[in-house]
Amino acid sequence: MKKIAIGIDIGGTNIELAWVKPDGSIIKNLSYKTADFPQVEMFVEEIGNAIISINKELSSFEITGIGIGAPNGNYFTGSIEFAPNLKWEGKIELAKLFEQKTNLKTQLTNDANAAAFAEKLFGRAKQMKNFLVVTLGTGLGSGIFVNGEMLYGSTGFAGELGHTTAIESGRKCGCGKKGCLETYASATGIVKTAKEFLALSKVNSLITETENFEAKDIFIAAQNGDKLAFETIKYTGEILGKSLADYVALFSPEAIFLTGGLAKAHSLLIPETEKAMNKNMLKIFKETVKILPSSLIEQNAGLLGAAALVMSNI
Ligand SMILES: [Zn+2]
Repeated sequence: MKKIAIGIDIGGTNIELAWVKPDGSIIKNLSYKTADFPQVEMFVEEIGNAIISINKELSSFEITGIGIGAPNGNYFTGSIEFAPNLKWEGKIELAKLFEQKTNLKTQLTNDANAAAFAEKLFGRAKQMKNFLVVTLGTGLGSGIFVNGEMLYGSTGFAGELGHTTAIESGRKCGCGKKGCLETYASATGIVKTAKEFLALSKVNSLITETENFEAKDIFIAAQNGDKLAFETIKYTGEILGKSLADYVALFSPEAIFLTGGLAKAHSLLIPETEKAMNKNMLKIFKETVKILPSSLIEQNAGLLGAAALVMSNI
């Protein structure tokens, strides 16, 4: 019997559900709005029922289980713990709730770890044992592979690179600290930088042509030769690259993959990031690590990686 795994990717805005083959191809998928489930019980009931009914349609396959990628997801406990972007408060034992509802083995991890699993199983990291995946979305997440295994640490939460300090007494972060990397190197961070630069600038910028501009408007402006937009990307790359040099000293990866909305501007962002990383890197690591765009950048790597949690080949 052919095996397939179910993946659930929980984000602050959308929830994706998919039935995934071992080669990473999706045979069925469904989308939901996170806001439609103010209580976790409603969520487990509705998604659980969808899983049970679609599994009947797919009875020619063996379902290996459910893998969930979620913000503040803990692989050790199967819980989502105090996720700032979700309405479900406190500790939610989500893996257990899905096992009870569906009778399927369920594993859960952090969304960035799921993206790293996807890179290992379906992307460019297939042959690598040591690599980092950095997700540059609303925040900055990271999944760290060391010696061929995901790094979880003693708590299950290892790899919170987004909340390492990039700028002393810098921008206020959602976690309560100041100057965290994600307040600069993320889709929200780059917009803040552009606004700061605009406030100080006396020249016109193409960015301001879009009201409530987003990260992608900054890239478009930079591609069209806008100086302020380019300076914004350069500044973001400098801060990110400097932090990456520190992570290279810690983990000595073969590659650092960038993914998420902001990584779509990799043709501009990566050269600036690389320059700053190399400038700040210890000599012994020079030329040993490359920054690459994720090969799954146009796909939902978190969703594929969630399914990969319950595939036997990982
Ligand atoms: Zn923080």
